Amino acid sequence: MAEHTNLPASIDPTIPSVARMYDYYLGGKDNFAADRRAAEQFITVLPGIREMARANRAFLARVVDLLAREGIRQFLDIGSGLPTQENVHQIAHRVDPEVRVVYADNDPIVLVHGRALLADHRHSTVVQADMREPEALLAHPEIVSALDFDRPVAVLLVSMLHFVPEEALVTRIVATIRERLAPGSHLIITHAFAGDVSAEVHEAGQQVYRSTTTGSLTSRGADRLAELLAGMTLLEPGIVPVQAWRPDYEGDAAFDPAKPAILAAVARH
Ligand code: SAM
Repeated sequence: MAEHTNLPASIDPTIPSVARMYDYYLGGKDNFAADRRAAEQFITVLPGIREMARANRAFLARVVDLLAREGIRQFLDIGSGLPTQENVHQIAHRVDPEVRVVYADNDPIVLVHGRALLADHRHSTVVQADMREPEALLAHPEIVSALDFDRPVAVLLVSMLHFVPEEALVTRIVATIRERLAPGSHLIITHAFAGDVSAEVHEAGQQVYRSTTTGSLTSRGADRLAELLAGMTLLEPGIVPVQAWRPDYEGDAAFDPAKPAILAAVARH
């Protein structure tokens, strides 16, 4: 990205943005010096983060493809991030070009890039909305007009809830979304899990994310994700690291449950 030229006033390039840091982990070019600095710091704390980010994207692609093939015709991607190589609408539209996709993110830079990508796109749109206000997000006029919540919707909270430190708010976000879902809908969650890292490494990671747009990164394990999804049907293989959720290659299925990971869960309502 050309550094700092023609930026809307709402975008501060000196504060590391988790959207742009993630773009950097994925090898993208839509990031600034402050993002790259923070991302490099985090890479020294957790050297596997780039592979984890790529595995997270690959998981998202597998799930969207699977659900589109199973007949889901509406997707709401909350915290969609900067457009990357394979976005939800591109994956779903290979199955059916009529699939409706709404991207929601609270980072204004995602909106700028998303609008450019989706200009003139009939069935996809991007809105600025905050998951910490889930009722307002679901009532957003463009979401309400694009999606029919009386029919199945797949809602993605992929690499998102770890940016909310308050447990009660995480519970409310998931519960509010679940209340709106018609039978046959799906909720897809991926979440950072620190595993057995030392207290020092954990604190070093926290320190990096304290300086970012979200101000925090909270680890949660499989038990907590299961609690959030209790009463829904977890698709096989349950809650596992993203690379082990129905991998393309047998070799990716083995994992150590104590190691740092991005955990994945896909639940049917
Ligand atoms: N979901 C994508 C994926 O997993 O490939 C992108 C994940 S990226 C790590 C996290 C995204 O969540 C960023 O684009 C960030 O702007 C967005 N985000 C963080 N907090 C948010 C909030 N409270 N409301 C909406 N979006 C948020």
